[in-house]
Amino acid sequence: MQKIIIIKYAELSTKKDNINFFLSTLKENLKASLRDYKVNITYDKGRMFINGPEENFDLITDKLTKTFGIHEINIGYELENNNLDNISASLIELIKDKDITTFKINAKRSDKNYGITSPEIARILGGIVLKNKENVSVDVHNPSTIINIEIRYQHAYIYFDKIKGIGGYPVGVAGKSLLMLSGGIDSPVAGYLAMKRGVRLECIYFESPPHTSVAAKNKVISLAKTLADYSGYVKLHVVNFTAIQEAILKNCPHEYLITIMRRMMYRISERIAKKHNCKAIINGESIGQVASQTLTSMSCINCVTSMPVIRPVACLDKLDIIEIAKKISTYEISIQPYEDCCTIFVPEHPIINPTRECCETYEEYFDFAPLLNDAINSEEVIKVENKISEEYSDIL
Ligand code: ATP
Ligand code: MG
Repeated sequence: MQKIIIIKYAELSTKKDNINFFLSTLKENLKASLRDYKVNITYDKGRMFINGPEENFDLITDKLTKTFGIHEINIGYELENNNLDNISASLIELIKDKDITTFKINAKRSDKNYGITSPEIARILGGIVLKNKENVSVDVHNPSTIINIEIRYQHAYIYFDKIKGIGGYPVGVAGKSLLMLSGGIDSPVAGYLAMKRGVRLECIYFESPPHTSVAAKNKVISLAKTLADYSGYVKLHVVNFTAIQEAILKNCPHEYLITIMRRMMYRISERIAKKHNCKAIINGESIGQVASQTLTSMSCINCVTSMPVIRPVACLDKLDIIEIAKKISTYEISIQPYEDCCTIFVPEHPIINPTRECCETYEEYFDFAPLLNDAINSEEVIKVENKISEEYSDIL
């Protein structure tokens, strides 16, 4: 009998045709994120199994609870074979020191040629428990312990506890997209939700030194690191936006500053996205949150790109976004008070209903093309690794 981690898949079981692609991606993601823990990973269409040194199980489980594509994690035991006598003997051994008052047996058999049905297996093993453990009784409605028995083709498995996974699709199955990552609360949450649908993130951050500080940039790196906990790594593209912002400030009407600035951001994002094979742009815009996020503003800004722009938090209330940000540990970082390039030149009365024609006219007042090229050529690419492996690097 060997201690083992059993993984149940999330929505993947509905992916009939390309299930193998989903599962091999999940395995590759786990191989990368568990690379320090000396694990062996195997899988079939129903389960993934992780073997490794028991002393690492807590750390491994911690990582698994941050891996998309997993519905449930069970720490259990793999038996040498699926013979019923062997299962009975192993069960007696396992319940010996376990604190049980009432119990229920959940039996499942994926080996349909097994000869005994699941209810029969549950009845027989229930009898074994009653006979071998004092002061226990069966309670199928509200048991203190659920004993799970799974009979598969070569082995049987016994486990007691369930840990909930975070669901979603394995990161990468949906391809890559570029997240516009500011230091705020919304964009990291948008990134998290996109990753949950299987998107691998590259991030773009617009900095405006000396108007924005190194501390503001470090804050964004720290957010990227936290997001990388869910995907192993993310690539961060830092683009210098100073000259463009100053040119807009100098040449365009102030009520249009933000609108034109965001059109420039979208143009750069599209080109960086294409350069790095990203299929869409993702950002943290939320309908009506600020002047640049009214539907009229959004359409006026959006029209500079033909790429899909995904806004995962578009329809969420701020409080709901904050709740997710707290859950994924980006909130505490986001609320640190560093300036963002969007906040340094805020006009007193930003326009709520800008028009595309006005934007196009005002953008003719200055030749922005060379500055856009310079900004793109200035891109600094930082590969941001996950925080967890750093935190534990001295233990392993
Ligand atoms: P957040 O809390 O995510 O910063 P916000 O409410 O502050 O959002 P805005 O500043 O209007 O909203 O920005 C809207 C979106 O534009 C952000 O969620 C982010 O995706 C993107 N964005 C804004 N500033 C930057 C920046 N400096 N670099 C990259 N993306 C940015
Ligand atoms: Mg912001």
